[in-house]
Order: sequence, then structure tokens, then C-alpha cells
Amino acid sequence: MKNDRLAIIMLGPPGAGKGTQARLISETLKLPHISTGDMLREALKNETELGKKAKEYMESGTLVPDELVDAIVAERLKREDCDQGLILDGYPRTISQAEALQSIFQEDGSRVVTIGVEVGDSVLIDRLSSRWTCPQCSKMFNARLDPSKVNGKCDACNSDLVQRKDDTKEVIAERLEVYHKATRPLIQYYQDKNFYFGVNGDQPIDTICESILNRIEADG
Ligand code: AMP
Repeated sequence: MKNDRLAIIMLGPPGAGKGTQARLISETLKLPHISTGDMLREALKNETELGKKAKEYMESGTLVPDELVDAIVAERLKREDCDQGLILDGYPRTISQAEALQSIFQEDGSRVVTIGVEVGDSVLIDRLSSRWTCPQCSKMFNARLDPSKVNGKCDACNSDLVQRKDDTKEVIAERLEVYHKATRPLIQYYQDKNFYFGVNGDQPIDTICESILNRIEADG
């Protein structure tokens, strides 16, 4: 049914800019951008059962259990807007999640491209601690490097920008540790499957986006 659909997986540490790149690629290729972080934050905001279960993990910077996240992604991938392709941002984050995803893609014959946005820890800490996010449309700004046009307001939808609860110093340290322990091994996992393309995330946003798009095209 979904033969040849293009599945783009965005890998990278928190703050690497994978959300920004996923959004740009989604606009260019007209594919849905699926961010598990956004889905979980929405569940938290709406106080759903999932939100209640995920809250403590998210606020402390640890990972929500695999089975909860696997279930929401599996459901989301069945929706019609994913038939031509999709961009995953923030999933998978563990080998077990990657295996759950792999069995979905193997079954439906998706073409998988994994993009790793690579940035060193000191740059990430600096970026995350000056990051402001739009709670409405999830667009991100950096108070020093990429500020919004009107102070405290989102350029896209004019909502008041907020600092995410998990963008505090202690939680950032925890999130980076979790990344190195649980998520970084996925680079090797996808390299072994020949799916992986690493891009230096410490470059202008447009330059990164262009190399990602070129790579996806070359791979097609
Ligand atoms: P993000 O916006 O991707 O940085 O995600 C924010 C938080 O949501 C993470 O620190 C985790 O607590 C949770 N989360 C998002 N995606 C996943 C995932 N694939 N597996 C487990 N937890 C996740």
C-alpha cells in the first residue's frame, strides 16, 4: 500500500536544529513533520492519559518509556497524510524504538533515509539555554543568534514565546547524558544499514538544509 514512501529520520542531540531542519524539509518536500516531542507536549497540555504518564519523564529530561512512544508513532504513521512520505523528528531515540520502526518500514516497503545533525555539547548547551519556543506553532528562536523580530513574539503566528521547562541548565545536562547513552548508538545502527548521512549542524540553517535536500535527492 505504501510502497516507495520516503521515510526521513532526523537524528541528533537536543538543540542540534533537527526540528528546524525537519520543518524546512517538510515545507519543501510537502511531507508531514512528525515530532514526538511536540506530540507529547500537546498531550501534556491537554492532560490526556498519555500526557499524565509522560509528564514526569519529560520534565526531568529522561525518556518516556518506549512502549508509549512506539504506540503513538505507529498510530500516526497509519494516517493518510503519511502515504507519500514523512519526516520523523525526535524518534527513534533508543535501539528498541529503532527496531519497532524498522519492522513497520520493512512491512510497508518505505525507503528510509537517516539524517544526523551533528553538533558538539558546548554549542548545544549554549543554544538550548538561550532558546525560546512558540507554544502555538513550535517555531524556535535563539535570543542571541536568531531572535524573533518583535521581542517575545513568534514571527509566524504572533503568540507569546516561552522557554521550555526542560531548557533549564540541570535538565539540559540530563538530556545530553541521555542522548549520549541511549540515542547516539543509533548512528552506528543506521550506518550499518547504509541509511546514515551526517551533516555538520554548526553552519547556517540554509546551508544545512541544502546539503540535506541534495543528499535525499541523490539517494532517490
Ligand atoms: P524533544 O522535543 O524531542 O526534545 O522531546 C522532549 C522530551 O519528550 C524528551 O526529553 C523526552 O522526555 C520526550 N520524548 C520525545 N521523543 C521521545 C522518544 N522518541 N522517546 C522517549 N521520549 C521522548
